[in-house]
Amino acid sequence: MNNLTYLAKIAKLDGNKITLELKDELNIERLKTIFEDYTGERQAELFIKDPRCFTVEQRRFTFALLQDIYKHTGQPLDSLKDVFYWQFRAYTGRNVSLSNGSLSTVDDITTLDELILDFIFEWHIPFKKGYEIPPQNVQYYFYKCVMTRTCCICGKPNADIDHFSRALGRRNRKTVDHSEYDFAALCRQHHQSKHQMGITNFKNKYKVIGVKLNNDEIKKLRIGG
Ligand SMILES: [Zn+2]
Ligand SMILES: [Zn+2]
Repeated sequence: MNNLTYLAKIAKLDGNKITLELKDELNIERLKTIFEDYTGERQAELFIKDPRCFTVEQRRFTFALLQDIYKHTGQPLDSLKDVFYWQFRAYTGRNVSLSNGSLSTVDDITTLDELILDFIFEWHIPFKKGYEIPPQNVQYYFYKCVMTRTCCICGKPNADIDHFSRALGRRNRKTVDHSEYDFAALCRQHHQSKHQMGITNFKNKYKVIGVKLNNDEIKKLRIGG
């Protein structure tokens, strides 16, 4: 193929006329060669990039999750990918892909990662180092940690449910309204270091966020004692 591809910014729209500002330099010599003695219409194909396309961070996160499942189950990455792509299709009726040129959006990959997180928490797949979680999945991640009592920092099971931003203090655990608090799941060791470091230092170091729970969830986790 002799086609030329350029990166450009859309500068102006006027009906069917689009003005493009090239970011690459135009190769005039090449164009002269291509169009020499050519009298037909000079055609170009326009591909408009969707700015909502998923982020590199999301791609890395997805593969970090799949990698941990592979390490624990021995299931090859390709087949894991197929399983979750298939789940996504069953769930949304659409296709999803993380390859270059994919049309999947930020929201698509957020959904895909939620499906993978469900699997990870359901089967207690260990994650030793924690994750760099894309902002779109942060809330869901910490929520799943709390609901499955998985330490949100090191992935250890049977974690404590800590009243996170605001301590329960001397208030009566049985009568206080726990839905006004936020929670984080922390293993014994990380729970201790939170109380030693104090909430501000702890948040800065581990980027943990507390999640709110409704009364059903509070009952289910037996937070009220
Ligand atoms: Zn921990
Ligand atoms: Zn605590």
